[in-house]
Amino acid sequence: MVKRGILDLLKDDDVLGDGGYVLELERRGYIQAGPYTPEVAIEHPDALEQLHLEFRRAGAQVLQTLTFYASEDKLRTAGRAHEVEDINRAAVKVAKKAVGDDALVAGVITLTPTFEPDDPDSYHRVREIFDQQVALQKEEGVEFIIGETFLNLKEALIALEAINAAGLVAMITMNFNGSGSPDGFSPEDCAKRLTEAGADIVGVNCNYDPTTSLAVAERMRGATDAFIACQPAGYATPDPNVPFVEHDLFPLSLERIQLTRFAFAEFAERARDAGIGFIGGCCGVLPYHVRAMAEALGRRPEASEKSPDLARHIIPDVREKDDIRYWREREEGTNNEPAREV
Ligand code: ZN
Repeated sequence: MVKRGILDLLKDDDVLGDGGYVLELERRGYIQAGPYTPEVAIEHPDALEQLHLEFRRAGAQVLQTLTFYASEDKLRTAGRAHEVEDINRAAVKVAKKAVGDDALVAGVITLTPTFEPDDPDSYHRVREIFDQQVALQKEEGVEFIIGETFLNLKEALIALEAINAAGLVAMITMNFNGSGSPDGFSPEDCAKRLTEAGADIVGVNCNYDPTTSLAVAERMRGATDAFIACQPAGYATPDPNVPFVEHDLFPLSLERIQLTRFAFAEFAERARDAGIGFIGGCCGVLPYHVRAMAEALGRRPEASEKSPDLARHIIPDVREKDDIRYWREREEGTNNEPAREV
């Protein structure tokens, strides 16, 4: 069976992405908090494959390789630069093993410690780092590449050049709120410039909750004809100027600001209605959030066979909660309140 490419899928319908791997695999005991490097792909590939399988079962149509922080320079900070090739190759192999016939594998590249916005000499080194990762992931057979979590537009553009040079479809997502990038570009500027430079899909991911992220994605939507992606964090960030990585509870007590499945069901509906084509999640977004998004989009993934049926609960009071409205009402007054200024 020949798989349809990401752009064909987006032309027909919304595409559902997956969620966050790094923080969840840290919780499961396979990634170390601190360096957060992804050697799990070579040390415990079964653990990584299991999380991929869970996202796919929950309805994800795209599995992202766990190659966040798998650049040679970032791995060097953890004493693992010599494993850059093994980690990038293994991460793609594991995702491809889990992906099945109906989902796609997207390679991933992301921000590097080498990039210095005010030092053009660093650009050339960053390009080499991205070229290496893109070549390894392409050789292993990724279907397209996501350059994600970029703070600075200039670094995102270098990533895009590397993907373009490899002849692969490029999705580029920035990591910021409505203020735009530290190197001085608004969400609209970034969407336009990335599209002009050849990105097929542009958008936003990580750091902020669905409300703030979606507002940024909608601004991008108005500035480009490219497909738009929105993959927010699964944590409440009620102050749109404080990303979860600057929260007091980051990184070890994030459970206390975890958003619910209902927050993500609502996000998926709002994103679809706003014309966002690629809808997914980032850090803190788990398989049950993805299932909730899939069902909100009118789908019934494999994991829906175990979706809640509280009418069969042993306690009568719990049986009465077998109504989505009950749970949606519980979202009101939480940190997921929509419609604030960003
Ligand atoms: Zn993230």
